[in-house]
Formats: sequence, structure tokens, C-alpha cells
Amino acid sequence: MPELPEVELARRGLARWLAGATVEHVRVWDARVVKPSAKALTAIGGARIARVERRGKWLRVALANDERVLFAHLGMTGEWMQTKGDAPRERFERVRIDVRRNGRARSVRYLDMRMFGRVVVAKEDIASWTELGPDPLADGIDARALHEKLRARKKTIKEAMLDQRLLAGVGNILAIESLWRARVSPRARTNALTLAEVRAIARGLGATIRRTIAAQKGERAAYVNAGAPSPFLIYDLKGEPCPRCKTSIERAVIGGRSTYFCPTCQRAR
Ligand SMILES: [Zn+2]
Repeated sequence: MPELPEVELARRGLARWLAGATVEHVRVWDARVVKPSAKALTAIGGARIARVERRGKWLRVALANDERVLFAHLGMTGEWMQTKGDAPRERFERVRIDVRRNGRARSVRYLDMRMFGRVVVAKEDIASWTELGPDPLADGIDARALHEKLRARKKTIKEAMLDQRLLAGVGNILAIESLWRARVSPRARTNALTLAEVRAIARGLGATIRRTIAAQKGERAAYVNAGAPSPFLIYDLKGEPCPRCKTSIERAVIGGRSTYFCPTCQRAR
């Protein structure tokens, strides 16, 4: 499932292809991924795209001199790509946006095998955008504020980190890798964490995001493709030696999600 680094790569691609371009034609192949309707999306034909932003796992496409805003979420298997204007429909292509910029035509396609992703036309910022917590990359993390919020909860830190209202864009892999970097047990109770531990988690998130983005080439995260080398230190590496202390990495299920951790470096208190 795409997490913050993959969505940031998608944003960079969309910004490169769409910013400053005029929408010539929109084709909706499958209206199930479009809200509120295919008609609302095809009606953006003629609009000029101002910029592409990201908050957490949401992409936001702002139109110039137009109150409509496009939001997009990759869901489980969503992916944006670009092709020549006249290229045939791709496998799993759900939406096609043909644009022109400086006389050059290109076609931006939204592909989604399982169709949990969304392309939303809204008149103002939708709740899923406004209710998101700070984005670790775009906003940075205020460790003191995060520590206060965590103290008010009684979950495990691993579960809390996946709450998009607390931190936008953090998914299972980012949480696992940054807790390992911070030497904090995924089972640690949020109300028992020290400020120093929360600071270490914030640093771990930043380091994991930077490392994951730097490891990718192009607009699509390579490790999404089966067989690509993993940029991760402990994720999905049960039984492998911890890169720090050589103890075997363990796997546990916390809050219904697979979690990996080093029982030595991330000892539960
Ligand atoms: Zn270790």
C-alpha cells in the first residue's frame, strides 16, 4: 500500500506533467474511482492546472482561477503515469487526462487494479484533507506537540502512528522502520513515552522518508514491483540479523497489522 514516500513521488511526477498545463479532454473509463461523478471530472476540460500538492497520502491538484479542486488518493494499487497523447489505453486504466502545455500534448493516466483509490472533484478542501495531522515531510514534526497528543492516548505507539489525524502519511512500513531507528518498542504505550523517545521517533520518520525517496528512481516506488531490492532496514526481514545488534528480527501482529522489531534494541519496558 502506498505510504508517504510513494505518494510524494507521485506528486513530483504529476507536478512535472500537469503544472501550467491546460486540460484538453478527460475520459473516465470506470466511474467507481471518481467522486462525485464522472461528469464532474470530465467538466474540468478547458481548465488550467496551477499546482500539485500533497498532504499525507492525499494529492491535491489546484486549478487556476477556478474554485474546483481535484483530490486523489492511491488507495491500495493506484498509480499515475504519463504517455504520449495518442497512446492506447493501459491495463487497469480508470481515468485519462489529456493535457497540453507549450504546444506539447501528453496524456496522464490513472491506473488502479483494485480500485480503492479515488479521484475527487470538490469545491473546497474536503474533510479528509483538512482533518489530517501534520505531514512529516511538508510540515515537519513538532515533537513537543506530538508528545502531548500521545500522552492523552492509551494505545500502543505502533497503532497510534497509523492514525492519519495524528501524523499524515505514516503507514505500516514507515512506522516499523522509524520505531526501530528510535529504539522504541512497537508495543510501548503512548502515554508512557518520554519526550526524548518522541523526538527520536520524529527523527526516525524523517530519516526513513528521506532514505525511501532517495532509493527510488522515477515517479513510481520501485519496491512496489515484486523482485525490486528493498530499501528497508527491518521491514519484512523476520529472522534476519538486526543491522545494529545482530539479534534476529521478530514479527508480531499489533492492531491487526504485521510488525517487525528487534527484541534487543526495542526492548519493551
Ligand atoms: Zn537490534
